[in-house]
Amino acid sequence: MLPEEMRLDGNAAGGALRELFARDVTAGLATCGGCGGARPVGALLDYGTPLGVVLRCPDCDHVMLRLTQVGGWLRVDLSGIAILALPNVPAS
Ligand SMILES: [Zn+2]
Repeated sequence: MLPEEMRLDGNAAGGALRELFARDVTAGLATCGGCGGARPVGALLDYGTPLGVVLRCPDCDHVMLRLTQVGGWLRVDLSGIAILALPNVPAS
């Protein structure tokens, strides 16, 4: 089977993405895109703003996560996290 024949749109990933984001992310392990340090998301420094949340690395002050709610959209910028590892919790 050719790769083009296996391709689906993003809706096919809906179930996997629901499992990813419908959990407590603070227990996840975030690797900083700035210094490479890894620590639980709950240990990052929260610089909340009126528009949302900004989480920074305690070691190098790199912005790791931005979360805003604007115009009916929840917008998440994870570009400052090199890797986000979440505990694999079995479905109940
Ligand atoms: Zn860092």
